[in-house]
Amino acid sequence: MDSDIEEILEKIEKGEVSLSRLERILGNPNLAALVRRVYLERKLGISLSGIASTILDFEELYGRNIENPIGAVQVPVGVVGPLRVEGEYAQGDFYVPLATTEGALVASISRGVKAVTLSGGARVRVIRDGMTRAPLLRVESIVEAVRLADWVQEHFEELKSLIKEVTRHGELVDVYPYIIGNMVWLRFRYKTGDAMGMNMATIASDKICKHIRDSYPGSVECIALSGNICSDKKPAIINRLLGRGKYVVAEALITREVAEKVLKTTPEAIHYVNTSKNLLGSAAAGSPSYNAHVANIIAAVFLATGQDMAQVVESSLAFTWTEPRREGLYISVTLPSLEVGTVGGGTRLPTQREALSIMGVAGGGDPPGTNALKFAEIVGGVVLAGELNLLASLSEGSLARAHELLGRGGIIGKS
Ligand code: NAP
Repeated sequence: MDSDIEEILEKIEKGEVSLSRLERILGNPNLAALVRRVYLERKLGISLSGIASTILDFEELYGRNIENPIGAVQVPVGVVGPLRVEGEYAQGDFYVPLATTEGALVASISRGVKAVTLSGGARVRVIRDGMTRAPLLRVESIVEAVRLADWVQEHFEELKSLIKEVTRHGELVDVYPYIIGNMVWLRFRYKTGDAMGMNMATIASDKICKHIRDSYPGSVECIALSGNICSDKKPAIINRLLGRGKYVVAEALITREVAEKVLKTTPEAIHYVNTSKNLLGSAAAGSPSYNAHVANIIAAVFLATGQDMAQVVESSLAFTWTEPRREGLYISVTLPSLEVGTVGGGTRLPTQREALSIMGVAGGGDPPGTNALKFAEIVGGVVLAGELNLLASLSEGSLARAHELLGRGGIIGKS
């Protein structure tokens, strides 16, 4: 290690230089990551050679994706497919990358994908689209609160054109005012093109709040740019009711033959498990989400494709619905709050971009917004497959055995 670096390491140890200042001192984000890592290795007496091993260029990520980097962790990625999707934007057969360390998950989804595809595929529609941000404003009284909410509606077109100053792809769609006493939340909804849109919606809402502060003919105080009625990264019924991001519905009709031959069960048995577990069980638990394991699939797709992982919270809010029919099993999954993007955030990282390209959705769509909608439809389809397979496994009793084989190394040595 050269003497300049040794000198910096010594200064960090003495508390004269903080770990967060290394980029500015060294002028080289990759070197800063190395120094931080070496400092930790020496201080803790451990090796971080695994974390050091990465293709990431911190020069590229600096000021965008990470602070105080020391390297990267790696998560294995599996693939399922072909999954047939009949959406408005996604049409055809797709392979879907899933990043996880949960043994049996990819195999489970894979069998569901096979059943859905053999049955003709998943029909998917995005029935509502828009990222929300709800600033919290304070006025003196309920009389003023109503006046403010009315003023915002009356000046909606003005606010709509105002945000064009801060974004090219963001578009204000509507505003839902919510009042408690003298407190007013303005839940703004924006179309955000191919971006998930949280930064875009926040920047646009900030612009609007400043405009309200300067132009509203009355006294108003902005308490918080995010007032939790948005609602970001927290379980919230409002997202389930009003939607956030993409409101996606995916459905399939699983033939009796596929239910019996691929899933080793019957439409009636799957339906009985769905109503008793997903509906009655979730109600008994007080859950806001009525499904078997949607978070598993959402998390694996999000991690592989550079989505914001904390948004698994609301993106996995879902209803799984079944009906046994003469021809087979009707199954649908409704995701009212799926927050996905194909540009921005972690989607620009090299491996995540490759993962998006497996589905043909990396980067901006033509026209803008169509890649994110296509991606949302594919996610709807793969979530449907994941739900179908777990319900089938539960109905015929193979869940524990699959986890024993695929989650505890039991498959090794077996043909
Ligand atoms: P972003 O990367 O901040 O913004 C997207 C950028 O891509 C914009 O500059 C946009 O330009 C541009 N763009 C180019 N082509 C586009 C296209 N086809 N469609 C849409 N935009 C296009 O991403 P974001 O989705 O708004 O925000 C995601 C990030 O926000 C993630 O990193 C997430 O972790 C973080 N986040 C922030 C908050 C918060 O409160 N700020 C909360 C949760 C998460 P124009 O704007 O000019 O259109």
